[in-house]
Amino acid sequence: MTTLLITHPASLLHAMPPGHPERPDRLRAIERALEAERFAPLIRLEAPLGTIDQVALCHPPAYVQAILDASPQEGFVQLDADTTMSPGTVEAALRGVGGAVMAVDEVMSGKARNAFSAMRPPGHHAERERAMGFCFFNSAAIAARHAQKVHGAERVAIVDWDVHHGNGTQDIFWDDASVLYASSHEMPLYPGTGAPSERGSHGTIVNAALAPGDGSDQFREAFEVAILPRIEAFRPDIVIISAGFDAHWRDPLANINLREGDFAWATQKLMDFADKHANGRLVSILEGGYDLEGLATSTAAHVGALMGS
Ligand SMILES: [Zn+2]
Repeated sequence: MTTLLITHPASLLHAMPPGHPERPDRLRAIERALEAERFAPLIRLEAPLGTIDQVALCHPPAYVQAILDASPQEGFVQLDADTTMSPGTVEAALRGVGGAVMAVDEVMSGKARNAFSAMRPPGHHAERERAMGFCFFNSAAIAARHAQKVHGAERVAIVDWDVHHGNGTQDIFWDDASVLYASSHEMPLYPGTGAPSERGSHGTIVNAALAPGDGSDQFREAFEVAILPRIEAFRPDIVIISAGFDAHWRDPLANINLREGDFAWATQKLMDFADKHANGRLVSILEGGYDLEGLATSTAAHVGALMGS
């Protein structure tokens, strides 16, 4: 059984105004890191275009149409202070959805042991009806719903270790007892949500807040005390990781001091759980990470752990 890596060059066509941190070079840095010899055993597939029906698993059709309609012929269209569309954005975002869905398909069907979809733009800030925080379609949330609708998963856990709270994923599953959303993130920080008191209608939202300056010890404690026991009690059929790497100490957008090894550790913890209780089923979807070196080394550590190396 193998680890699947899903990419697509269309991710590079989602252009950004100069100086924007969520830039195509992020994926070039990841690609370079995963060219190393030890990643040769990865199965590499290209992300298909996600369908409108797949996007509509988590976003109302009118919202999806509004995003499609906003797509510029040239230049940029600004949806909010930091969320910008270029002519390549729609294809990149739809392939981001397609990559996440493909990851679920391959893992749920047993063709791959686990899968990492390395695509941009990220998705976890995208709410049901709002693009924000560099995000348009919430690929991790769509992957969870797809696992339920197409593969019959009853319960899905989404674990989000991006340094920012995934307000979009929380918004989408707030009233849904069949999806556990567990996030570790810095507070206070963008987008401002994610207080531990935010628990969802059924208590299936788990927010573990880290303080500015926190590092490995506090992250691992949050994981072991607040997040892992809740996942174990929830007994999901598949675990989906919203894998942002902006809690790395080098990242310019936040102030949490994780090392590459912390991401490998968290990956291993979730793999151990999945092996015991979910047939090993684990899917990881790239979210943030804005220091190219920190992103590359952290992604390599994460994927290396997924491969069991
Ligand atoms: Zn982030």
